[in-house]
Amino acid sequence: MENIHKSASRPWISDRINVKEFRDDWFATSPCLKSTKEVFQLKDKEFAEIEAECGLDAMKCLSQLDVKVYKNIVMPINSGLKTLGVQKEDLEKRENNPDYDALVKESRKVYSCPPAEMNYYSEEHTGVPFEEVVKPEVVLSIQIFRPEKKVAVFQRSTTQRNPGFNIDQEFMVLGSQFLTELRDKIICISDEAIPGDYSEHPNMSVEVRCKDLYKSGFFYIDGVFYNDLRHKDCRDYSSKTIIKWAASREDRGIGPFQKATMERTQFIDLNIQLGYPYVYVHQGNCEHLIVFSDLLMHSSHHSNNRNEYPRHAVLKQKKRTLCMVCQKHAVEWIVHDNKLLPQNPFFFCKQCFFSFNYDENNKKIGDFRAYHRIDRSTIM
Ligand SMILES: [Zn+2]
Ligand SMILES: [Zn+2]
Repeated sequence: MENIHKSASRPWISDRINVKEFRDDWFATSPCLKSTKEVFQLKDKEFAEIEAECGLDAMKCLSQLDVKVYKNIVMPINSGLKTLGVQKEDLEKRENNPDYDALVKESRKVYSCPPAEMNYYSEEHTGVPFEEVVKPEVVLSIQIFRPEKKVAVFQRSTTQRNPGFNIDQEFMVLGSQFLTELRDKIICISDEAIPGDYSEHPNMSVEVRCKDLYKSGFFYIDGVFYNDLRHKDCRDYSSKTIIKWAASREDRGIGPFQKATMERTQFIDLNIQLGYPYVYVHQGNCEHLIVFSDLLMHSSHHSNNRNEYPRHAVLKQKKRTLCMVCQKHAVEWIVHDNKLLPQNPFFFCKQCFFSFNYDENNKKIGDFRAYHRIDRSTIM
């Protein structure tokens, strides 16, 4: 692939790094990464005494234990502070006006994930069982880009491919984790999509999503296709199509490629170049660029709970697509081939969908197909 990307001419792309060598070299040369006990060769009793004096618990003050998240807060009366007055007013408004309350909750949803550097979110707060990170360990930052925009089959020959260069999600992953652990954390609208026409039974409960039907996927990193083959229905996307195609003509200058399984590969096994565009493909043709943006030794600045990784480093606010009728609520339905509508397809929120397309007995008006639509803002 070097013939295509020419990373040597792009200064933001690093040289090839073997993650395991990086970890071992740093650990061997940096004594500060070893524990205090190891560096000063302390006995257990001495270490326990020092920890009691200078450990994290000793730095807490008693009143700190009473600090709670704002939920169920009781406002002090007549404090004279305007900010408290405004907050009180807002809480009352939320209590009395369910629509306003829903709006506030929805707008806050995107901020519900604490930044990765916040180490003080204990098991009690997060509900994630604690499992200590085994050191030495590395932390990789991985950016997942938005998938390439799809065009209709009949437009494919005339439209230029236009890959999206917007970072959608960014994760921090431990070197000892398997590639599948990252794959399971990536949220994509193609996985959440609901297949099938629901126009005859719009109230039928949804039981199947695309991720339940089509489980295959791969990461392409440094000349190797890592296929997810955990499930018996999973297909190896790479060997029959891409690897054979690349091998069929040498003059393309692409390949040779290798393949491996995602579930047996840890990040520590990889060779990576920081800033280099690699690929994640799932749901047949949903292609995301992925980029390793940083590689660090795990330190006290990172969460020490292995079960919290891969964790979102950045969670951007997602824009909602608004209903074409009311311009107020998020789109939940897409209607195709309805002659009563000015545009095809047409995007509806739940309320407008039922009031326009069904009569008072819930009978379909006219002939059309209707598909569920999941809005990006509701899944992240
Ligand atoms: Zn996708
Ligand atoms: Zn609407």
